[in-house]
Amino acid sequence: MQSFVPHPRPTPKRRNLHKVPFVELFAGRLQGVVSSGSSDDRVYISLIQAGSGDFYCSTNNNRPCGGLRGGPCKHIDALVSNAVAQYGAERVCRYLGVPEVTENTWQITNQLGGDKQKVEAGEVFARFLDYLRYVELPSSTEPRPEMAWFVTG
Ligand SMILES: [Zn+2]
Repeated sequence: MQSFVPHPRPTPKRRNLHKVPFVELFAGRLQGVVSSGSSDDRVYISLIQAGSGDFYCSTNNNRPCGGLRGGPCKHIDALVSNAVAQYGAERVCRYLGVPEVTENTWQITNQLGGDKQKVEAGEVFARFLDYLRYVELPSSTEPRPEMAWFVTG
């Protein structure tokens, strides 16, 4: 009789949960929530469209990020570097359609070739709030696949 042996998952590297509490590859986007550098109660919703390389960043109240002039802001940089820590550079680059696989955040954003393209922050923020609900659930020994993004190794 054969027993079921699950394939071991690669252990994610430690990412900075304080700086980037939420990052995911979802719906053709790399998207996430990035803490504001200056204020503790403000967060930025940053995202990159796979394929086109279009990007956007705004506060959770839909105020456009002031750092988006002419290219991705520092929040998008933080999003990419934490996505690389979480998923590995290869998966992030493949997902985004970036030709050259590199762990260097600056090189990844440099290869995007997209433009600023507005997306409602609420689309991403609602998903973040959904995930937070799982955090508040009582702990259990059962695996919770929805929480896989939260494992920091
Ligand atoms: Zn920004």
